[in-house]
Amino acid sequence: MLKSINPVTNEVVKTYEPHTKDGVKSIINSVDKTWHHWRSTSFMYRGQLMQNLASILRSKKEELAFLMAQEMGKLKKEGIAEIEKCASVCDYYAANAETFLANEPIQTEATKSFVSYQPLGTILAVMPWNFPFWQVFRFVAPTVMAGNTAVLKHASNVPGCAVAIEELFREAGFPENVFRSLLIGSNLVKEVIQHKAIKGVSLTGSTPAGKSVAAIAGSELKKCVLELGGSDPYLILKDANIEEAAKICASGRLLNAGQSCIGAKRFIVVEEVYAQFLEHFTHEMNAAHFGDPFDEESTMGPMAREDLREELHQQVVSSMEKGAEVVIGGEIPHRKGTYYPPTILENVQPGMPAYDDELFGPVASVIKVKDVEEAIRVANDTEFGLGAAVFTSDIKQGENIAEMQLEAGACFVNDFVKSDPRLPFGGIKTSGFGRELSIHGIKEFMNAKTVVVK
Ligand code: NAP
Repeated sequence: MLKSINPVTNEVVKTYEPHTKDGVKSIINSVDKTWHHWRSTSFMYRGQLMQNLASILRSKKEELAFLMAQEMGKLKKEGIAEIEKCASVCDYYAANAETFLANEPIQTEATKSFVSYQPLGTILAVMPWNFPFWQVFRFVAPTVMAGNTAVLKHASNVPGCAVAIEELFREAGFPENVFRSLLIGSNLVKEVIQHKAIKGVSLTGSTPAGKSVAAIAGSELKKCVLELGGSDPYLILKDANIEEAAKICASGRLLNAGQSCIGAKRFIVVEEVYAQFLEHFTHEMNAAHFGDPFDEESTMGPMAREDLREELHQQVVSSMEKGAEVVIGGEIPHRKGTYYPPTILENVQPGMPAYDDELFGPVASVIKVKDVEEAIRVANDTEFGLGAAVFTSDIKQGENIAEMQLEAGACFVNDFVKSDPRLPFGGIKTSGFGRELSIHGIKEFMNAKTVVVK
């Protein structure tokens, strides 16, 4: 049984009967059958449906934000912003898919030669709970606009969101089975990938889940895109506007109760401005008001699940045992709900979870370094490579560090890392491979077919 558990009350809100193995096969067969028709529909037709979907998302943003708050504790206002972003990615691909996938003529000795982008078929999405609508929409809008069909295996703690997304497609007028949700646990993912109709898999989630899915997809020779964990470094250089940087860093750390893959996680500060940064950063982190997601006053909700809070707390405790010092937070509050306070750890060193691992919650690791060279070295001293940011008033230097020195899929200067439908999104190293969004995302599950006429 799949369960929605409200992290504010720890009570089961609703249970969902999972699909049986036969049920899953039957859905995939239907989605595959639909693909043979869907692939030859026009971009205009698909675009109209995608725009309907955007309108429905906007009209239901309060209701969908409520669902997210109830299933994983997201602040209602953050939920509304997430749904608006989903609508914007639908509009973006409705407007641009045809241009992105237009034939590309190439001069050769032949009469005609060109590249044509052809959809692959039915693609499996394995998705996480932290942005339960956005993660799905940033995959599905380009995938479906490109003429593929899709099945979703959503995280087990957000079955209500999975069902709601399928329903949104119906309401928007998409043919039945262009997109379907499979209500299954991760134990059935292997069988789904092995189904002959599945032509690719896109997983957003933790690095261990990525390794497991990549191994299965590899053994089946099926393409995969992996959007995995991160431990994004934020470099604070001596000429940065420290007050402004501290504000941005705290927002980047606390968004979604710290449960964001591209959340700011390690703050690497040069020694000249260390004390000043820590003072402002502590002030900003302390100003967060954690409370009920429906309360307008709350700036941070609970964590999504009890086990995730426990795991985070163990990482904090283990880092402290190895010499990290708590500046603020670090203790589980005595109240109902899976809340965790904004926490700052300093004196963070290699060998501690706060240095080596992803801390998926409102915990910041602050690291003092001698100079900019050491800051870059520490920033890159990680297995992850998702996002990174540098704060400096020397824009030229900032741009050079962002472009040439930091090992990450997205590097921002004087701002926290965010996704945008127009910009490619993805990681390197154990943060994954492949790209979502922009022109790059829509081409991931396409056959770039060469056509030559003698
Ligand atoms: P997770 O535990 O890895 O789960 C993600 C999805 O993978 C869920 O649907 C889960 O199903 C499934 N899954 C887990 N283990 C699997 C396995 N061995 N085989 C097949 N499927 C498996 O991650 P999460 O806790 O939901 O999300 C947090 C993680 O996602 C963080 O590491 C975060 O950084 C990462 N993330 C990355 C991005 C990005 O764009 N790079 C974006 C968001 C989140 P069940 O729920 O049924 O276990």
